Parts: sequence; structure tokens; C-alpha cells
Amino acid sequence: MYNRRKFIKITAAGASLAALTRSAVAKSIVPVDDTKYPIVISTWDFGVPANKEAWTILGKGGRALDAVEAGVKIPEADMNNHTVGRAGYPDRDGHVSLDACIMDENGNCGSVAAIEYIAHPISVARAVMEKTPHVMLVGEGATQFAVEQGFKKEKLLTPESEKAWKEWLKTAQYSPVVNIENQQHVPGSKYNHDTIGMLAIDAKGNISGACTTSGMAFKMRGRVGDSPIIGAGLYVDNEVGGATSTGVGEEVIRNVGSFLVVELMRQGLSPEDACKEAVNRIIKKKPETAKKIQVGFLAINKKGEYGAYAIQSGFSFAVCNTQQQDLIVKGKSAM
Ligand code: ASP
Repeated sequence: MYNRRKFIKITAAGASLAALTRSAVAKSIVPVDDTKYPIVISTWDFGVPANKEAWTILGKGGRALDAVEAGVKIPEADMNNHTVGRAGYPDRDGHVSLDACIMDENGNCGSVAAIEYIAHPISVARAVMEKTPHVMLVGEGATQFAVEQGFKKEKLLTPESEKAWKEWLKTAQYSPVVNIENQQHVPGSKYNHDTIGMLAIDAKGNISGACTTSGMAFKMRGRVGDSPIIGAGLYVDNEVGGATSTGVGEEVIRNVGSFLVVELMRQGLSPEDACKEAVNRIIKKKPETAKKIQVGFLAINKKGEYGAYAIQSGFSFAVCNTQQQDLIVKGKSAM
């Protein structure tokens, strides 16, 4: 599946190849490691199958934008994933409302927030980017636009999600659980949140990103988190790199998290150090809140170097490149 391409570079300046002896040629051959491109990374363990899908495009030399859209559609369609897409848990009134955004190498971006009845918000976000003069559509207007564009309107609330919501209504306590993605199938783990944020660099070196979520389970009707907000849940600058986030979106919005991470990388910080600084700002402003919540950032720079950092331990991300398809990395954390 992978094309591990090695290019041969002759560095013996001015020397004619024909004039070199066999051993001299051997010494002058410098393998150029281009294994950093293409690459796709994404948040949480559920990023592994999403990355694999993205790779079906990236591995053939396809565009990063196409790859990230296709990749995040995997968790969006997963009926066992209650934090992203069609099987996402509803808000406290029983409505499944989804958030997503996408950004390409030219700084184009599109977003939908609080969209209902549409299983693939990421593709609607892309349509907003490509077919409207706007960046963001919300609520009924977003759904209306999606239907006009030919997206299927369907009931998203699954029997399992409805059961979880009715169970939640018994106490109606809103308390997000840290790192819930690893507990989705654990009975009693009802208060879910988590997002897939994906960043890819294609063979041409162009960067794109996508971010999609059902947000905080049992959120207030109309609540929108960081995930569909360009600069908060996702940001890409083709000269520098890209960043995305997961966790309690309110804190990410307050710090314009993903934009901050990209700007810190522009100033020379590594992806991990940039994510760490963004996390530390959240902690510094609200140390008590930070103890109880999770926020994680994931970033990649133009060189294909990647890194992550989270408030709490347990944040993982998935990496897929020419060397490995299903690497899961445990991100470092402040606590
Ligand atoms: N960031 C998402 C939101 O606040 C949820 C998450 O990633 O955990 O909607």
C-alpha cells in the first residue's frame, strides 16, 4: 500500500557521474528522506481508521483536502461513535446537532455549526467553502443549504443515543467526562465529548485540515463549541503548519487555540512545544477549571514534524505516513 520512495541525489558537485568509480558513486549517494510526506495525523484512537481512509487518497498522490474530508467521514458514519457524526449523542432536548469545519492550503475554509439531520457535516462544510461566498452556516440555514445541495435529510438520533439521553434526563447533570473516547462502550459512561481533528500534508507539501464533532453530549440547545470555529478548533497556514483541538471547546475558543498553536510554530516552536504553550495558557487563566477538564491540541509543521499536548493524561493521536499506517501516540500532558 505504501510507496516508500527514496530519491537518489548526486552531491559530488561538478563531477561527472561517468567519471566516478563504483565506490565513489556509493559514497556520493545521499538518500533523501521524503518519508515525512505525505502524512496524516488525527485525534484519538478513532483516528486510526480515519487516517487509513485518508491514506487511500494521499498514498496515490491525492490532495490533502480530499484526504481529510474522506478521512473524518469514517468516524462520522460510525454507529458506535457517540461523539462524532450521525450517532452522536443529542443535546439536552434530544436534538442531534453537529459541528464541523474544513480548511485548505490556500486559506479557504468552510464551516457548519449546530446542523441537524445531516450525517456528514464535514462535506456540508466543504460545500459552504466551495459553493457559497460565506465561511459559516448555522442551524436551520445550514440544514436547508445541505438539502439544496443534495445531502440526505435523515433522523440521526439512534435508539442507543435516545436511551442514553433518557437515562441522562433522570439526573440531568451536566458533567463532561475526561477522555471519554476510551470509555464509550463502558456502561454508565454517558457524558461524552470528543472530536476528530485531522491534519494532512500531501505529496506536494500542501496542508489541509478537518474537524468534526457532535460536541458535548447533552449540551444546551444551540451550544456551539470550538470545533467548527476556524482558529479555535482548526487552523491551517500552508507556510507554517496546521493545528486542531479536542476537549472542552469553551476554553479553546477563549484562547483561539489552534490559531495560537500555528502562530507559535511560526515563531519557531516545535509542534509539541506550541501545543504545550497553548495548553499552559488555558491552565494559567483558570487553574481550578483546568484540573477538571480535558483539552488537547495536535499540530503538524511544514516539515512534517508533529506533536501534541493536553491538560490531562490519556490524550492519544493517530499517525499514518509512508512508514506506518496505524501508529497511536500517547500525547504528553500537563497533569
Ligand atoms: N471540542 C468539542 C466541543 O467542545 C468536544 C471535544 O472535542 O471533546 O464541542
